[in-house]
Amino acid sequence: LTTADLIEEHRICVCVRKRPLNKKELSVKDLDVITIPSKDVVMVHEPKQKVDLTRYLENQTFRFDYAFDDSTTNEMVYRFTARPLVETIFERGMATCFAYGQTGSGKTHTMGGDFSGKNQDLTRDVFLMLKKPNYKKLDLQVYATFFEIYSGKVFDLLNRKAKLRVLEDGKQQVQVVGLQEKEVKCTEDVLKLIEVGNSCRTSGQTSANAHSSRSHAVFQIILRRKGKMHGKFSLIDLAGNERGADTSSADRQTRLEGAEINKSLLALKECIRALGRNKPHTPFRASKLTQVLRDSFIGENSRTCMIATISPGMTSCENTLNTLRYANRWEYM
Ligand code: ADP
Ligand code: MG
Repeated sequence: LTTADLIEEHRICVCVRKRPLNKKELSVKDLDVITIPSKDVVMVHEPKQKVDLTRYLENQTFRFDYAFDDSTTNEMVYRFTARPLVETIFERGMATCFAYGQTGSGKTHTMGGDFSGKNQDLTRDVFLMLKKPNYKKLDLQVYATFFEIYSGKVFDLLNRKAKLRVLEDGKQQVQVVGLQEKEVKCTEDVLKLIEVGNSCRTSGQTSANAHSSRSHAVFQIILRRKGKMHGKFSLIDLAGNERGADTSSADRQTRLEGAEINKSLLALKECIRALGRNKPHTPFRASKLTQVLRDSFIGENSRTCMIATISPGMTSCENTLNTLRYANRWEYM
């Protein structure tokens, strides 16, 4: 079975990507506790101690659609994750690709480093597909949006971080009022927008990484036909999942942010589950993130791919296990 077949069957693809030990981990001689014995299995070897102080490794096994080891390139990851979803948006569908994991585990790297790399591949393929005779005759226009969700509020990164309202009409249609959709004609146009959005995102922040770990970034490619939505591809760099544990922090703001992140990641899981099980009711109202993504969780032709990113080090073991449990394939069957 290829990923495309799996997605055809389940609509959901769940993958894990392990990054290499970094300089800091190597300098403190952190142990690599993750092995990927086959292309769909991840094993965690957690060092433990018995009461009599003898040491042992507790091995835990998780299965996924794909497990990428630390030698896998971004291009390979793209080919097995987002690439099979490109056709979906030309066939009037919704495609969504998430990076989920602890801060520092490689979410942004996997999204191509602030989306630019992943987008280069993705937009290249979108514009190539546009030229195919079948799709060319549809006369589709391509647009892009770029926004972030921070503490339950939506900010437009293509419009000086304007704070946007999210409205739901009587027919449960969700609208992000005033979200800028910029028309793009080529890959360079997209890269320019991403640059604008990224600099907007980090401006006024003391630390770019600290901020990005607490907010979700969403980049979308939208296909329109005579003004009407034809298909939409969303790339999402989620807030660090360890932030959900900040709910007991002494600082009120940090606590609130942690609670909000927790809520949105749990809601996301429920929505993906509902999608996979073909449930008619998606609990999308539980968070701003899922509310904004509502149309991507419903409909016959919605496809989702989650890439859970993990750090290999023993010092990250607890977070890694949390990530693997969240992404566990069977949760979504
Ligand atoms: P996150 O967005 O999850 O906080 P980053 O993507 O910023 O994490 O990754 C943290 C650091 O690790 C960055 O310097 C990044 O370049 C590096 N890194 C992440 N994943 C990989 C990988 N698969 N191969 C090499 N370096 C990686
Ligand atoms: Mg990041």
